[in-house]
Amino acid sequence: MTTKGAFDDELYRPSTAFDLLRVPGLGWLLRWRWGRLALQLPMLALALVLVYDGLTGAPLASQNIATVSVWIHYRGLVMLALLLVGNLFCMACPFTLPRTLARRLSGRGRRWPRVLRNKWLAVGVFVLYLWLYEALDLWASPALTAWLVIGYFGAAFVLEALFAESPFCKYVCPLGTFNFLASSISPLQITARSADVCRTCVGKECINGSTQTLGCGLELFVPQIKRNLDCTFCLDCARACPHDNVALAARRPLSEFIPIALTLPAAATPQPRRLASPWPRRWDTAFLALVFAFAGLTNAFGMTPPVYALAAALSQALGTQSEALILALIFGVFMLLLPAALGLGAAWLSRRAGAGRQQRPESSLRAIFARYAPTVLPLAFAIWFAHYWFHFASGALTIVPVMQAFLIDHGVTVLGRQPNWTLGPIMSDDAAFLLMLAALAVGYLASLYGLSRTAAAEGNARARPAMLPWLGLWTALALAALLVFSWPMEMRGMIG
Ligand code: SF4
Ligand code: SF4
Repeated sequence: MTTKGAFDDELYRPSTAFDLLRVPGLGWLLRWRWGRLALQLPMLALALVLVYDGLTGAPLASQNIATVSVWIHYRGLVMLALLLVGNLFCMACPFTLPRTLARRLSGRGRRWPRVLRNKWLAVGVFVLYLWLYEALDLWASPALTAWLVIGYFGAAFVLEALFAESPFCKYVCPLGTFNFLASSISPLQITARSADVCRTCVGKECINGSTQTLGCGLELFVPQIKRNLDCTFCLDCARACPHDNVALAARRPLSEFIPIALTLPAAATPQPRRLASPWPRRWDTAFLALVFAFAGLTNAFGMTPPVYALAAALSQALGTQSEALILALIFGVFMLLLPAALGLGAAWLSRRAGAGRQQRPESSLRAIFARYAPTVLPLAFAIWFAHYWFHFASGALTIVPVMQAFLIDHGVTVLGRQPNWTLGPIMSDDAAFLLMLAALAVGYLASLYGLSRTAAAEGNARARPAMLPWLGLWTALALAALLVFSWPMEMRGMIG
């Protein structure tokens, strides 16, 4: 576990040859004291319009700003931003505006309970959120979507007012959890420009803050950052650093979950080889990566005809008509039980086939699980991307008539006097399907690359057999996704 003031090795510090904060104009805007607020205010305005229309506007999902913007546009655009840049949504997140107010009102607050300082709660809230989405048909209800947004504002305010360390973002928010995981494949990462400057830095303002600025609310320490997990890209650290030593740097693709083998001087240790991994050697974070993948598949499966056949069969077998209960069962099995059982099974097989008989910390079941499971992240991202982009490609232009109708209802006709309800797709169904296949293929190959690099880092002849159980699991996941994407998918939030 990292501690304030201590330094980690520098293996995962990206080169700062490209630093977004050095781009003329843009870099200044991002580091500007009010730069984040300038991004958050338009998002807040959008959130207010969304809530207003959700509570007072058209009850039909395909004609309301709340449902169309949240369930079609937000999800499609956030995937694109994560792929091209990183966690831009968290940077501009309007939910943290009341959070910042709460933080100033309450001072530093109490510490988040130790028992909750991990990702187990995030796993539960993430799955709960996906279950609520299906069980309450959130996608079909503008009013419930508006209340969801209000709930987000309230939860962020309350948790930030009570506790330090921004627990809402770090441990609770399902959107944040999603973005943290997806940004593992993003090309940018926060890092220190010079480790030497950090070593001699007295105030460590990037984490401690100063009288003028807040330090990192999530208590990440810039020279120790090795991954995007937990980083909201808020850039408070860059604004707080008095030495202008924080970079938002380009990094090697997939570097976030590929271990590096360290060869230590033989005299220094009886085990001259050690694996340094950017992801924590923890059950919770590794399991979260697996849940992210299986949840992506289940979420897409939930919009295809076979899920209705499965639900009907379960309903008959269990003698219940409760859709919420049936969905809880399906989601519990597919999003929690399966990843736990298959992930542990793969780790066990991997341990037996590989270096498990050596008594090294790297050979424990937990270490193997934590080392290999995150290699699923590119494939997991691809599954979510393919799914959300199918909906975005099929309905992106729906926002035009929806905005027209909203403005006309409020006496503004600048976008026309009649909504053009024929607008919708930005590409044909065939093109959207090809995009899904391409995303899936790239994600699968990237996960295989991560697997092979992870095995190669082990540096022994048994490493290749050790990766085979994971290879089988990722291949089965990719094939299952291919099957699900080949079934007709419900066109939610679209004009029928
Ligand atoms: S405040 Fe700046 S120089 Fe000091 S430790 Fe943080 S990033 Fe390094
Ligand atoms: S390290 Fe902390 S302050 Fe810096 S961008 Fe990430 S979350 Fe924000």
